[in-house]
Amino acid sequence: MAKRIGILGGGQLGRMLALAGYPLGLEFRILEDAAESPAGQVAPLVSGPLDQNLVLDRFAEGLDCVTFEFENVLVKAVEHLSGRLPVHPGPLGLAKSQDRLVEKELFRSLGILTAPFAPVNSATELEQAAESIGLPAILKTRRFGYDGKGQVRIDGASGVSLAWEKLGGHPLILEGLVPFDREMSQVSARSTNGEICHYPLVQNIHKKGILHKTIAPAPGIGPEHPLSHASQKAMEKVMQTLGYVGVLAIEWFQVGDALVANEMAPRVHNTGHWTMDGAQTSQFENHLRAILGWPLGSTEVTRPTVMLNLVGDYRTAKEWLAQPGVKLHLYGKSPRKGRKLGHVNVIGNTAEEASERAYAVMDWLVE
Ligand code: AMP
Repeated sequence: MAKRIGILGGGQLGRMLALAGYPLGLEFRILEDAAESPAGQVAPLVSGPLDQNLVLDRFAEGLDCVTFEFENVLVKAVEHLSGRLPVHPGPLGLAKSQDRLVEKELFRSLGILTAPFAPVNSATELEQAAESIGLPAILKTRRFGYDGKGQVRIDGASGVSLAWEKLGGHPLILEGLVPFDREMSQVSARSTNGEICHYPLVQNIHKKGILHKTIAPAPGIGPEHPLSHASQKAMEKVMQTLGYVGVLAIEWFQVGDALVANEMAPRVHNTGHWTMDGAQTSQFENHLRAILGWPLGSTEVTRPTVMLNLVGDYRTAKEWLAQPGVKLHLYGKSPRKGRKLGHVNVIGNTAEEASERAYAVMDWLVE
């Protein structure tokens, strides 16, 4: 009988997971608050609140395995479901990555570099933290921040009270500003039987806090580069410590010849979307293989790729498809400012070709 996978969350990541799983003979069921969602367009949807055990139980009926596609899933919901059927990733990895402070403490305990940081729960603690860490620094909410939301940069002493006015009242973390050369990320998968595979390091460029572009592989970083080894070793430590199963992403700052961890995401990741057209096995397929304990697929790069996010609005499909080397992935969402509506993977036979083709469509991007 076909394996039936439940996905908590109905966004584009759930949609792309389902689309990757159908050729493998898998079936899907989505649980989502909203009645309409990108994943609900491609798989049966149970619409209801994810914090009610009755809803979770009804959803889990007849499923073989559950996963999730956003990291703010309630840990309690994952714990509840774990009592009935396999849920991957498990509650530990989820809980650690929901709190920036806990996450940084985990990195530090494993010898992985981070920005200097301190917890902040009052205006006085913020002043003390600014003093000890030094400015500039970034004040962030410990939980529920994404795409640059819930954070304020403090450039000088006069900005301290302003930052407190904006974010005070939430549990916070102050982080020293990392003078990075560039941002990169590591996307890897670990299966239920401990097998691990790594995609190459990729370079990421953000605009207004939202991922704008991923260059895969990261220019100048071959498989034998010391940073590739360092990134994979750090990833393995985190995965093994957490007993992690599924795809995990770690976002890095490159500072000279060192990697400094920014954060991790316990799910398929926007900086792994290039794998749909540029790697032998996509991150979505490898996530499904991992949670089912199936053999992981090759992560070999088949074509250098530049991934561009379509944010806010996009040209028509027909226009994109007329461009050489453009692979279009739309999420079935209506346009709205700041909203991720899809992405294009611009592929080339060489990195130069992919980058030239991406450059040719750069002014098509609205935001
Ligand atoms: P985050 O939500 O933590 O991923 O932050 C969004 C973006 O802000 C990152 O991709 C970086 O470009 C920037 N950023 C966040 N934290 C730091 C930091 N400690 N030092 C320098 N830049 C940062």
